[in-house]
Amino acid sequence: MTSQSKCTYILASILALLFLFVAKSVIAKEIEDDREFDYIKGSPKGPEKWGELKLEWAACKHGKMQSPIDLSNARVKFISQPEIRNYKPSNATLKNSGHDISVSWNGDAGSIFINGTEYHLQELHWHTPSEHTINGIRYDMELHMVHKSSDLNVQNRTAVIGVLYKIGRLDEFLAKLNESISSLIDKKGEERDLGIIDPNDIQAESQSYYRYMGSLTTPPCDEGVIWSVNTKVKNVSRNQINLLKEAVLDYAKENARPLQPRNNRDIDLYLSRYPTGY
Ligand SMILES: [Zn+2]
Repeated sequence: MTSQSKCTYILASILALLFLFVAKSVIAKEIEDDREFDYIKGSPKGPEKWGELKLEWAACKHGKMQSPIDLSNARVKFISQPEIRNYKPSNATLKNSGHDISVSWNGDAGSIFINGTEYHLQELHWHTPSEHTINGIRYDMELHMVHKSSDLNVQNRTAVIGVLYKIGRLDEFLAKLNESISSLIDKKGEERDLGIIDPNDIQAESQSYYRYMGSLTTPPCDEGVIWSVNTKVKNVSRNQINLLKEAVLDYAKENARPLQPRNNRDIDLYLSRYPTGY
């Protein structure tokens, strides 16, 4: 190779590398920008703007029964008959939506009954930090178990159970998913087959819970959601929270929607009269 062709070769290599670098960052930027919404305060797609981004998302702005809210000044009620929570192990898929990590059951994962209506468990996902606060206290993480009624005559067809966590011991349920979540870091839109997942392993039982009528906490912010937020706060390790934050995209590392106005809604605090949980 002559010194001139050597020089051309080096120059071409530098140009190729430069091109690759630019192309990579352009692609990365596009992936970040195809987000439908984000959690960054003041951002054009941030929580204050969700209701303006799409016509179908208007409830995020104009709804009067939005979630999350601060759970305080609740009316105390006693559980006369424990609600049935009857979950079953079933095949599940782990998904990275970019704004959260979720587990969706493909088959019948069981159901809960609220006032005689059956709601089937469909999926769960995590928010860091918590979305609901209790007497103004925000926790480190909140798990949402989303249930739906297939009865078209039912007015409120979604029921969500919220479980709050504070940093402490390892959460056994998340620990089982550790490897699968690690394989989805920054991989928006990808999923992993988890095999059989037993919802009972979440150990979401609580002898008392807050109940109120609210909405989905992500667009389209649909209302008519029956919320049950357990008073029992569970433990999760700092590393487990960090993994969830690392797995989603940068704009959702803190994926908790800000508190919404209560607007005179009732909040009931149901306490159990029974010595054992259900
Ligand atoms: Zn949620």
